[in-house]
Amino acid sequence: MVHATNLGFPRMGGNRDLKKLVENYWSGKLDEKSLLSGAKNLRAEHWNIQKSAGIQDGHIPSNDFSFYDQVLDHLHIFNVLPQKYQGLQFPLEAYFAMGRGLQKEGIDVPAMEMKKWFDTNYHFIVPEFTANQEFSLRSRKPIDEFLEAKALGIKTRPVLIGPISFLRLGKAAKGQNFDPISLLDRLVPVYETLLRELASAGAEWVQLDEPVLTFDLPKEFKDLYAKAYAKLSAVSGIKILLANYFGRLGDNLDIVANLPISGLHVDLVRAPEELDAVLKVAQDKSIVLSLGVINGRNIWKADLDAGIATVHRAVGVIGSDKVLVAPSCSMLHSPHSLDAEIKMDEQIRDWLSFAVQKLDEIVVIAKAVDQGEESVKAALTANRASMQARRTSPLIHDAKVQAEMKAVTEDMFKRKSPFPTRSAAQQAKLNLPSFPTTTVGSFPQTKEVRVARQKLKKGEWSKEEYEQFIKAETDKCIRFQETVGLDMLVHGEFERNDMVEYFGENLKGYVFSQNGWVQSYGSRCVKPPIIYGDVSRPEPMTVYWSKYAQSQTKKPMKGMLTGPVTMLQWSFVRDDQPRSDTAFQLALAIRKEVQDLEAAGIPAIQIDEPAIREGLPLRHSDWEAYLKWAARAFLLSSTGVEDTTQIHTHMCYSDFNDIFSTIQALDADAITIENSKSDLKLLNAFEKFGYTNGIGPGLYDIHSPRVPTEEEMADRLQEMLKYLKKDLVWVNPDCGLKTRGWPETERALHNMCRVAESFRKAK
Ligand code: GLN
Ligand code: ZN
Repeated sequence: MVHATNLGFPRMGGNRDLKKLVENYWSGKLDEKSLLSGAKNLRAEHWNIQKSAGIQDGHIPSNDFSFYDQVLDHLHIFNVLPQKYQGLQFPLEAYFAMGRGLQKEGIDVPAMEMKKWFDTNYHFIVPEFTANQEFSLRSRKPIDEFLEAKALGIKTRPVLIGPISFLRLGKAAKGQNFDPISLLDRLVPVYETLLRELASAGAEWVQLDEPVLTFDLPKEFKDLYAKAYAKLSAVSGIKILLANYFGRLGDNLDIVANLPISGLHVDLVRAPEELDAVLKVAQDKSIVLSLGVINGRNIWKADLDAGIATVHRAVGVIGSDKVLVAPSCSMLHSPHSLDAEIKMDEQIRDWLSFAVQKLDEIVVIAKAVDQGEESVKAALTANRASMQARRTSPLIHDAKVQAEMKAVTEDMFKRKSPFPTRSAAQQAKLNLPSFPTTTVGSFPQTKEVRVARQKLKKGEWSKEEYEQFIKAETDKCIRFQETVGLDMLVHGEFERNDMVEYFGENLKGYVFSQNGWVQSYGSRCVKPPIIYGDVSRPEPMTVYWSKYAQSQTKKPMKGMLTGPVTMLQWSFVRDDQPRSDTAFQLALAIRKEVQDLEAAGIPAIQIDEPAIREGLPLRHSDWEAYLKWAARAFLLSSTGVEDTTQIHTHMCYSDFNDIFSTIQALDADAITIENSKSDLKLLNAFEKFGYTNGIGPGLYDIHSPRVPTEEEMADRLQEMLKYLKKDLVWVNPDCGLKTRGWPETERALHNMCRVAESFRKAK
């Protein structure tokens, strides 16, 4: 019998219940007991949802719950607490301190480092190991949660991050120089103990997630996997399902093919082309194959006929007893349920599927294969109608956009003149001093600004009242920038809620959910907009505010836009055309905005692309193709202007080595980057590769309320000049100021401008 299974369920709950629980606990509104019982109820609810949907007993995930992050959980399970947290109360105080830092009487510990989980927007806590790291089974969470479900009459499949992924995703503690993977021999015995305990608690299967198998792995990993999994599979009474997701196994299939595992999960949404190869492995080894046919990380309804065909194929080769139907990856990255989306356009809503609906899709596919399509006739009929409607809908397919895309020519990817010519033309117009000062865009989004937006939304304020308010904020911001002595001003972004949402709301082809939250990190959730159709710009989106701001000052005003790759990266995207096609549509819409800003007399325009780097594919061999279209999308958006219009871009990360040639290829007149936290090492790249255009490596870190002194910023700038030509250097903070308060912002920018002045004099 083909089983319907799951790899992980979103833990937040239908109303972001988990967020509320932990935040109330943090603020002291909820005691520990209520936190724990609230979490227990939530887990029970989620198991019951899966059980009643028809997910097979024994294949409902457990230990997918987490108060903050599953990797952080594993640090507690295997007792990997960096020194500074060891004195804290175990488990909760230490746990949350590791996730988010802790400041209270006599205690002041920072949070551990966070990184993006593969190519998702979920952030995990980066494990930190010491060279003499010892491991032991400290938190019994996986066993406890298994027993908790068992007491409810639900048999679960505990989910663990596999030992190799766990080590590979971590780093050596500061000042130590060793590869965490060298700790494998010490770690595996503790996994063995844990598996043994799970077996005696009654678990039949354990899911070991090894998503690092989507990376390019060094040759030694083959032996490491073989050794570790030989030990783990020797634990009697429990079967190992090794799960890979987020991409193809590729040459790592060779690693997997040699492991003594009982089951293998593969992501057939990302790597459908691997079906035959993995079937062969499953057949040769006579193991269970879990087919990830439902996209666990996007929001589109699945084509059930296609899923059924895939499963039939697998059954034909390895037999129905060996086949599991599954989501491609954990549904952690998918919103909870569509049921809450009562305000969404009904036609569009009919094309979507959130976690709860995805469970039904899995069950329908399994049942159709097992008992025949007749047994799920109604579901299939509805699915076919919905697929057909989406394929042909005029809501999605916009002939005008498609005609414009076809009309794009090669010269639309190039500025009229090379940078030196443009730079001279811009200087003649703008007459900026050396070491020109600017900011990255946003100014403090105070409570008043957020309240004003809510008042407009709730209808308590008219559009006029709201605009008056935003104008007053913008005026204040402009006066401040003039007084402090900034050279290139910004309007402050007070009218924007979020740098993607604002544009999404103004573009055609985007829809917004009311409750489509996904966890980003800890208790923080994001609600990515959904790109459902061809993207176009019905009307100018930012011209009104930029023009208003420019009318209030004689200093040059910088327009502020979000770039095509970032718009794409931070949204749920279409699955019916390549990502690059959607990026180009976005680029064309932004290009028009750029041209309108220029026509409105805005002399400089910044197109933010903070997400270019995080879009890098997991496999090296896929980088070039991605970077090529990403750069072209930016160029399409930015090059339709005269030489005299200055194009800026901004990126907020510090590792440029991998994508340096792309940064250069963007050919922006100026780029502002985050550098203040990274000990200037990134500037090495700019020096090594000889960056030729304007560059503003952030002089100070905006992520902290601390006000940097003139001396320290002067030292920084001095240091930077070792790497960069002084004629190219801009002086600015390292990111937007929206999360800061006004008092520290004023003082920090004051100091920054004084530093620029003193460097000008010294020149
Ligand atoms: N212009 C944006 C701002 O200043 C850039 C934000 C970002 O880099 N993420 O807020
Ligand atoms: Zn930034």
